[in-house]
Amino acid sequence: MPFLTQLADVARRTGHPVTEVDGWKSRGHGPQPEVRGIVCHHTAGPAGGGDYPSLRVVRDGRPGLRGPLSQFGLGRSGQIYVIAAGRCWHNAPSTSSLHTNSRSLGIEAENNGFQPWPEVQLDAYRKLCAELCREFGLPVSRVKAHREVNTAKPDPHSVDMNAFRAAVAALIAGTPGSSWTEDIVKQLPLIRPGDDNLDVKTVRGCLFARGHVPSTVYADLPGGLEGWLTSSLCDDGLVELVRSFQRAQGLDADGLVGPKTWPPLLRV
Ligand SMILES: [Zn+2]
Repeated sequence: MPFLTQLADVARRTGHPVTEVDGWKSRGHGPQPEVRGIVCHHTAGPAGGGDYPSLRVVRDGRPGLRGPLSQFGLGRSGQIYVIAAGRCWHNAPSTSSLHTNSRSLGIEAENNGFQPWPEVQLDAYRKLCAELCREFGLPVSRVKAHREVNTAKPDPHSVDMNAFRAAVAALIAGTPGSSWTEDIVKQLPLIRPGDDNLDVKTVRGCLFARGHVPSTVYADLPGGLEGWLTSSLCDDGLVELVRSFQRAQGLDADGLVGPKTWPPLLRV
């Protein structure tokens, strides 16, 4: 497996805001060899200090342990920080062969280990796990607390993992658009033909994840699938795929990604 440069797009499918931390696409202790599991952590960082005061430690490491420490950070506001696309030092030794550093992704959620979890942060936590399960074809049972795969660890504190996994399973099985409010939908950008921005990449990633990108679309491109997914241009080919997705959803096939098309595309 290469560096996982799709992780920011996967995170955006949660509907929560995403920060791509500079340099994330090439950050890691080498590429990520496999993704067979997900490990949930808390940072044990300071009690205050803003949304994600542990960013520097998770990115750069601490004495005795070089960063990056995990692929994702999760702020108190539900903001998702994409920190690394390669392997990270978040779980060693592991009691589960599917949750070693070489076989799993880590999420370090900001919490000092005692304070209550804001609901918006838990919502982002569950949705990020759900989108990662979808992306990598994992059963929800592969989402583990650090304490479940490393007996020396307490994190994430006070999260009932059976209830957490049940909620993630419900999200994976969920009805498109079920948790969208009108306010969220109004804030989504309108994507038009010719646009060139990061939101276009999200459209590409979502179409691919929903099975609406036939391999003939990218097979002959120099960059293959990765090149296709990382293009930020809304070109004619993409507009055609959007139309086909809209037809499959029973929507007006106008080729614009707006308030009607985003919810089924993001499937949150
Ligand atoms: Zn941990």
